[in-house]
Amino acid sequence: MIGIKENLAQIKTSIPANVTLVAVSKTKPIADIQEAYNEGQRVFGENKIQEMVAKFDALPKDIKWHMIGHLQSNKVKYMAHFVDLIHGVDSFKTLKEINKQAKKHHRIINCLLQARIAKEDTKFGLSFQDIDAIISSEEIVALQNIKIVGLMGMATFTDNQQQLEEEFLSLKNFFENKKQQQENQQENQQEKQEVKNIDLKIISMGMSGDYPLAIKNGSTMVRIGSAIFGVRNYIV
Ligand SMILES: *Cc1c(COP(=O)(O)O)cnc(C)c1O
Repeated sequence: MIGIKENLAQIKTSIPANVTLVAVSKTKPIADIQEAYNEGQRVFGENKIQEMVAKFDALPKDIKWHMIGHLQSNKVKYMAHFVDLIHGVDSFKTLKEINKQAKKHHRIINCLLQARIAKEDTKFGLSFQDIDAIISSEEIVALQNIKIVGLMGMATFTDNQQQLEEEFLSLKNFFENKKQQQENQQENQQEKQEVKNIDLKIISMGMSGDYPLAIKNGSTMVRIGSAIFGVRNYIV
């Protein structure tokens, strides 16, 4: 661990241009984020809404703030005026709440549905079947203040490269499948002029320990914390 500037530069050279780097700054002080910002980093990820709000208030307003943590519906209102992308949406109820709060601010909030790809059962997320049900539901059309722009997944915490690869690939394959399905549907809907709020573009997968493998298996957005800012002092 040399320093934020050096870490960022090193990581950027190992990420292709089409992959977005989310610098995960949870638990880290304003000064660390400012340092990354000064190096040109503009996308930051936080997993606690209050913490993200405090950092949003203190830092330059051209930062794109991503909520990557598990969401509590009752706190969505605190970030609805500025959040750029919400990664961890794992229920229709939460989507409805995001839609409601976004509407108050005349915004459309981009969301990723979190898929459960890890074999361990401690992680949050929807089954592929649940995701299917949400994006093909009639009710989703009514939520005009949200846009589902992709999927997010967290692999098992393991060194087993083959298992990681399988988990990443499962998300990639499911994503491609759904994307194709959406595109076919959209062609049929064009006469109806429906405003589509599903546009699958992003696969958010890969963290400090596994991002090269995630990219190799189709990730378009990596969430990297400790490899940029150093180890966190407490578990979150
Ligand atoms: C903390 C966190 C990360 C970043 O983890 P690192 O291992 O420090 O890179 C990525 N995604 C989510 C959802 C997180 O909570």
